[in-house]
Amino acid sequence: MKALVKQTAGPGFTLAEVAEPSIRDDEVLIQVRRAGVCGTDVHIYEWDDWARGRCRPPFVVGHEFAGDVVQVGGLVTDVKIGDRVTAEGHIVDGRCPLCRTGNAHVCPHTKIIGVDRDGCFAEYIAMPATNVWHLDDEISYEVGGIHDPMGNAFHTALTASIPGATVLITGCGPIGCFAVGICAAAGASRIIASDVNPTRQALARSMGAHDALHPSEVDAAVMRATDGLGVDVVLEMSGVPAAIHQAFRLVRVGGRVQMLGIPAKPMDVDFATEVIFKGITIYGVVGRRMYDTWIQMRQFLRSGNFDPTPIITHRFPLEAYDEAIAAIKSGEAGKVVFEIA
Ligand code: NAD
Ligand code: ZN
Repeated sequence: MKALVKQTAGPGFTLAEVAEPSIRDDEVLIQVRRAGVCGTDVHIYEWDDWARGRCRPPFVVGHEFAGDVVQVGGLVTDVKIGDRVTAEGHIVDGRCPLCRTGNAHVCPHTKIIGVDRDGCFAEYIAMPATNVWHLDDEISYEVGGIHDPMGNAFHTALTASIPGATVLITGCGPIGCFAVGICAAAGASRIIASDVNPTRQALARSMGAHDALHPSEVDAAVMRATDGLGVDVVLEMSGVPAAIHQAFRLVRVGGRVQMLGIPAKPMDVDFATEVIFKGITIYGVVGRRMYDTWIQMRQFLRSGNFDPTPIITHRFPLEAYDEAIAAIKSGEAGKVVFEIA
């Protein structure tokens, strides 16, 4: 089959002919139709410090996808050939104390497809049946193919209390923009979004942000909108230290900061003034809760009140991987998707 492979420990990908994956008794084989491209793929493409420390080439890249089941292992009972599916890309052991207490999203034995084992930028991928998520008939393969980052946004937003809340979303990348739409659907009273990039501010506005501003305008906007109190909830979705400090500064006393964005390196925090004496709660987000987040995501999509499609701005065939990566790096794209079959 055709696959986008991280062939060697260096920059770039290779479009290669590789063997179709074989499945174990508890796995299914999925023909990939659409696959989302993400910042993680850019890290692996560029072979930065994080990728060098984490990944072991050769492997097939990609972790966001949807497609059709074409083969099922002998022990699989609830997934059939022909099912339209996506999948949770974090493969956990299911047996450790975290998994057994409903905290599989932080299972210490997690293996991520396209990072720690073969991924989905290929014609076929093997997945444990327990990770498979069925798509409603109304959900396109394209929207199915971005359930992973949408799920990150659902997890970040809905583990805070959004109905009626004033919300600041720092960072309007694809995940920040999804979060804007989710907070709007969940009944936030005011959504202020920030990004340094005007294209992304416009995307956030199209998803329902009341204000989408440059970070330099946000302090004043938050104070105006909250009678000088600060917002109830911040969703930090940039990973940029200046935005993280801004999150702590602009959350109200006793409020909540949901941290999804990943800083590139360690940073200083003045815990006394930024966190402790403000009495705030910080929640670190890892992936998607299994499977509360997935159920919530399905219900929001069914309601019709949340539509992620305006965020999908670029579509490429697998062959155009250099262009796909360049589109993400340009900052002019929302979500970038590979059309595979
Ligand atoms: P992205 O890089 O597309 O979006 C980040 C956005 O932040 C960009 O649009 C950028 O212009 C903006 N930004 C830069 N400086 C800013 C500032 N000072 N204030 C506000 N915005 C600023 O990323 P994404 O794919 O949307 O992901 C968002 C973040 O979440 C990234 O840091 C990513 O690594 C992280 N992430 C975390 C998890 C997790 O499980 N915790 C999963 C996926 C992604
Ligand atoms: Zn576990």
